[in-house]
Amino acid sequence: MTRKVIVGFSGGVTSAWCAGWALRTYPRDEVVLLFHDTQEEHPDTYRFIREMAAALDMPITERSDGRSVTELFRDEGYLGNGQNTFCSRILKAEQGAKYVRELRAADPDMEIVKIIGYSANEPLRVSKMVGRAHAEGVRVRFPVIEENVTKQQTTDWCLELGVRPSSMYCWAEHANCVGCVKGGRAYWIAVAKHHPEVFAQRVALEEEFGHHIIRGGDRERVWLKDLVQLGLKRKVSQREKIDIGACDCGD
Ligand code: SF4
Repeated sequence: MTRKVIVGFSGGVTSAWCAGWALRTYPRDEVVLLFHDTQEEHPDTYRFIREMAAALDMPITERSDGRSVTELFRDEGYLGNGQNTFCSRILKAEQGAKYVRELRAADPDMEIVKIIGYSANEPLRVSKMVGRAHAEGVRVRFPVIEENVTKQQTTDWCLELGVRPSSMYCWAEHANCVGCVKGGRAYWIAVAKHHPEVFAQRVALEEEFGHHIIRGGDRERVWLKDLVQLGLKRKVSQREKIDIGACDCGD
């Protein structure tokens, strides 16, 4: 029976570490580094993805929708928000499922293993992924949890390989799209500070759609345009802040 081991290669440090783990665990010719481009990743995340794939001597397999997050919102006539991240479903999950179907069409008996870089701090995402994998008929593994490594250890592994993580980590917990609609107040205040052009674009989107992206801490709605003045209701800290050394992102 043939097998493919699909690593979700998202541009984050844990997914990069998972790629290295997969290459140590499975035959190289079975491993696929699968990337979905939302067209709104941080520019330095694209650099990280290219450099990491080169350091691992692996090609990047890309399956993307072709639209950006903003184009998708306009096509759907709806602004993604903390309660509805359909951008993630359409631009990432559905692209991954399509790739699985592609492999199955070529070889119906193929064993497919998905490697996902979630940590033990993300139980909800883990359980959702287990359900999705079950529905797709694939096996899923979470090496960061299996090997009990920390996000800092995965970061150190990237640095030891000579690949600097995305400068997105200078101010955000995840290497997501810049202006990710899943973010909370603290995240958006950081976006306003580090990427004011993206913040302004998201403010304009809220105006265009007449809909909020975030809710406040007490579930009252907050417009992004008012957020910087309102500030935070309480001090928040990143759950998994990592140290990537001297920050030279300049943003
Ligand atoms: S990272 Fe955020 S904005 Fe980007 S696709 Fe995922 S949920 Fe949407």
